[in-house]
Amino acid sequence: MATITVKDKQFSLFIPASEIQESIKKVADKINLEFNNEKPLFIVILNGAFMFAADLFKHIKLDCEISFAKLASYEGTKSTSKVKKLIGLAENINGRKVIIIEDIIDTGITIDNIIQEIKQQNPKQIKICTLFFKPQALQKKVEIDYIGMEIPNDFIVGYGLDYDGQGRNLPDIYKLAE
Ligand code: 5GP
Ligand code: MG
Repeated sequence: MATITVKDKQFSLFIPASEIQESIKKVADKINLEFNNEKPLFIVILNGAFMFAADLFKHIKLDCEISFAKLASYEGTKSTSKVKKLIGLAENINGRKVIIIEDIIDTGITIDNIIQEIKQQNPKQIKICTLFFKPQALQKKVEIDYIGMEIPNDFIVGYGLDYDGQGRNLPDIYKLAE
């Protein structure tokens, strides 16, 4: 379907499932090549990256571990600023080569937060892998190692990404209709 409604907004088809799958295969091939004979620890950032991760790992041929973490927002007690903390990481990261799996990098603030948190646990190396990247929105200086697709500065939904909690189950990517 070319146009859909998610909650109160209209979205139009933007990236069909077949294109998403092609770009995921390319990312997996690159990781397989670069981590040949390594034993990386993948950390999938929930909720958004769950669908990407499921399809990506079907193509990953490495001996590897896969873990899941989630960003939780805390209201600071003394300030009004929101503090984000990575929760659910049980694995020992010390000395490991870590690959972070994200759904989308927009301003880069979220991934920058995650990198800082993981760095505190002394990994040997951190690589960043994202399915979608909005280069025009980037505000932080982050090096992204694996990118599925670069997209313009539009709000997208589907394939794990939500609009107000809905739309994650859509196999294609839709963008907000003008
Ligand atoms: P950043 O911190 O890089 O600005 O944003 C990262 C987070 O914002 C993503 O993990 C995602 O949750 C959300 N986000 C950014 N752009 C979009 C978008 O186009 N659609 C959806 N659904 N979420 C987005
Ligand atoms: Mg996210």
